[in-house]
Amino acid sequence: MKLILCSVFLTTAIFAADDASTTPAPATSASGVDLGAMDTHINPCKNFYQYACGTWRKDHAIPSDQSRWGRFNELAERNLTIERQILEKAETPSPDRSAVEQKIGDYYESCMNEPAIEAKGVEPITPALKQIDALSSKDELAKELVHLQDYGIRALFGFYVRPDDKNASQEIAIVDQGGLGLPDRDYYLKTDPRSTQLRTEYEKHVAAMLTLLAKAEGKDGADAEAEAKTVLTIETALAKASLDRVARRNPDNTYHKMTVDQLALLTPDFEWKEFIATVGIPPIQSLNVAVPDFMKALNSTIGDTSLADLKTYLKWHVLTADADLLPAAFEQEHFHFYDHILNGTAEMPLRWKRCARATDRALGEALGQEFVKVAFSGPSREKALQLVGEIESEMHKDIETATWMTPDTKKQAFEKLRLVENKIGYPQKWRDYSSVNVVRDNYFADALAAREFEIHRNFNKIGKPVDKAEWGMTPPTVNAYYSPSMNNINFPAGILQPPFYNPKADDAVNYGAIGVVVGHELTHGFDDQGRRYDGEGNLRDWWTAEDGAAFEKRANCIADEYSGFSPTEGVKLNGKLTLGENAADNGGIHLAYMALMDRLAGHVMAKKDGLTPEQQFFLGFAQIWCENATPQSMRARAMTDPHSPGQFRVNGTVQNMPEFREAFSCKAGDPMVSADACRVW
Ligand SMILES: [Zn+2]
Repeated sequence: MKLILCSVFLTTAIFAADDASTTPAPATSASGVDLGAMDTHINPCKNFYQYACGTWRKDHAIPSDQSRWGRFNELAERNLTIERQILEKAETPSPDRSAVEQKIGDYYESCMNEPAIEAKGVEPITPALKQIDALSSKDELAKELVHLQDYGIRALFGFYVRPDDKNASQEIAIVDQGGLGLPDRDYYLKTDPRSTQLRTEYEKHVAAMLTLLAKAEGKDGADAEAEAKTVLTIETALAKASLDRVARRNPDNTYHKMTVDQLALLTPDFEWKEFIATVGIPPIQSLNVAVPDFMKALNSTIGDTSLADLKTYLKWHVLTADADLLPAAFEQEHFHFYDHILNGTAEMPLRWKRCARATDRALGEALGQEFVKVAFSGPSREKALQLVGEIESEMHKDIETATWMTPDTKKQAFEKLRLVENKIGYPQKWRDYSSVNVVRDNYFADALAAREFEIHRNFNKIGKPVDKAEWGMTPPTVNAYYSPSMNNINFPAGILQPPFYNPKADDAVNYGAIGVVVGHELTHGFDDQGRRYDGEGNLRDWWTAEDGAAFEKRANCIADEYSGFSPTEGVKLNGKLTLGENAADNGGIHLAYMALMDRLAGHVMAKKDGLTPEQQFFLGFAQIWCENATPQSMRARAMTDPHSPGQFRVNGTVQNMPEFREAFSCKAGDPMVSADACRVW
């Protein structure tokens, strides 16, 4: 191991200490490593995650309003507090309020006004329920589903607009599987005791919601239990016809372009032509029917189900979609099942938190404008862009030196890399919400106005070129993403804060934290899913057969490795479901490490806090993932989340890295030294 000393390091650091970030960085150490989080009794070569995070995990119990508590959540809560300050200022009427402040302030105020919500009872959803009641034949189902779309309710199937996978400059309408109340098809189909028990709980929940509705309407709710069984029967039929998450990771499995006439042949008992003509999209010649078999099964489900039972199913979907806009009894019952039973959250978050999050969901780029004014400084953006540039040039070198890839495929990979666009912080042009009518004290109307705006904003993309400048996350979000169809990487302002990007920390720590995040997103462009798209965002196989096979072989190594991990008793990770994320973690850390080494090259660096820069880098990476989670949420995430839990994101990654082994002087045979290390990128 080299011991490097560098006197110019602090002054030339990309993340210099004089950065004007408004969030105070925790003063934990000279290097920026959180020494207090570590458990130094643990041998880093035995369990690096516990070494890096052991004390943090012991000291940070999961708050009662969370199912998982980690560094991401800590930062999200800090951002939420900033949003609260913005919203509390904006909710006070004053002649100085800007149009943006009026929208977000009044939306928040309406949400906070619980007495007004209680006083309205179920009256806001009565028109939708009456319309369902009035259906006189199944022939009217298409018309009814068009109506429900306006309410933001997607029953029986999904319908939305996205870039066309095979013509990425154009938008296309997609009709997809959907219509479930549980988070995934597997919840309906698995037969283990826990899954069976959850279905029983779900049925009870549906019955409880229908009983609440019946009581609010002055009825006794005697039919609620039978109605809940009906809902389960219909949703189970839809679940059986749905593709599982692993199959959906291959975009070829969800691309079936056809005419509306062809779609109508799959579901002859549903008036597709009427639905398409009236749902609010411009006229179309063709669309993507993501899962044709689902549309066939939808026909049998409609045929096999009585009109009365279909009405029950639709009413349930109105209730569950609107639960958080209704009186407390509905909201609490919804929380009880989805957060408490499914994820182990003990208590409902405070009202202000729910309302700040609701405002972010409804008017995210309005709230985001105000957020970046107080929480994101100009230098942060410049520094992030500089880091992204460094990581991208490391990716270029990585492709260049890949021994398993032939020159033809490399040429294509370079072209894809060259075309990656980088988006940092927030949109160049903010979404215009001026047509959304937000009034004080009418939360349901405000929420509906925001939903309708969003649905029609999406529908109106048809026929227009894809807008690559659009963001899929709001600025306060603590997350980042890669878009395969736009071939861009996106880092919201919310994540460019400590501990991801800590202006008071050394480069080694920041490269391990935000540097790995950048590398992770860039690697997504070349993971098992991203590699199927070219630089223009088109789903096109640009790999030679030989290189494709070599990639698969390497990717399978990662899939097998993570399939061996168990997040909670009796549960294994699904290595194929989490493959893209794990490949991105493994590739991302290499890129960030190489970028740091280039930065340190030629300088001799002293230890800080007794840690070499290499050790600081790995600790900076691992400490991003310090977390605790309820067993319920571990189970739920193992079924649905393509990301591995923090423990495996860290240990699963470092055990593949000879650089880690060297940094901590680990030996062959140590748990953190894999005998068959996996490597794609
Ligand atoms: Zn990812």
